[in-house]
Amino acid sequence: MEMGFADHIPMYFFPPEERDCSIAMGEEELPSYAERVRELQKRYHPFPVRFGIEADYTPGMEQELSNILGQYDFDYVLGSVHYLDGWGFDNSSHKGGYDKWALYELYEFYFSLLGRAAASGMFDTMAHPDLIKKFGFKPDGDIIPLYEEAVRTIAGAGVCVEINTAGFRVPAAEVYPNMEFLKLCCRYRVPVTLGSDAHKPDLVGYRFSDALSLLREAGYTEIVTFNRKNKNYIRI
Ligand code: FE
Repeated sequence: MEMGFADHIPMYFFPPEERDCSIAMGEEELPSYAERVRELQKRYHPFPVRFGIEADYTPGMEQELSNILGQYDFDYVLGSVHYLDGWGFDNSSHKGGYDKWALYELYEFYFSLLGRAAASGMFDTMAHPDLIKKFGFKPDGDIIPLYEEAVRTIAGAGVCVEINTAGFRVPAAEVYPNMEFLKLCCRYRVPVTLGSDAHKPDLVGYRFSDALSLLREAGYTEIVTFNRKNKNYIRI
């Protein structure tokens, strides 16, 4: 057993007035976050405590983000897409934004960005890879080709996907990503990591046994953890 922390990186690429400390750490907090995880690693040694971070993919800001990530020796970096042209689509206070979109096109946009993020080479794992379903808005058309394109890109980039049990706690009411997406990941041999996106101590490991059952159902026999960017495979 092991445990990793992956707090959300500061919102460097947003104007200061739009940075929201309830969803991401403030710029001044990153060094102390790193220090606190290091302290935990020492205190609980030899129990493995991993030092991770979650970072948004912002097209055009790859170099800047790489420079920031390069300043720390993270065990792993989770890459995520929470913004589409600056719209925080997973933020319940901006839910009205869905009305402005044809859902299929929205999904197309989201999954193409997810693929670009994976191909950027900055991330070890794509976090909550079908986050766009969070509030239950789903297009009528066949979205499997959108999944498949993203999964193929993720596989080609050698990046993992995260199975994230926070999906059980939102209106979509299913794990991120769903079974179709997971099966495609398995078919393309994309390794998976396990996360609960806890935000609160009592949610750490939330419904992991359900997530593991779903992984087995999708065809997986192991999950991955990271130690200084090296993969460890754990049988499930
Ligand atoms: Fe996230």
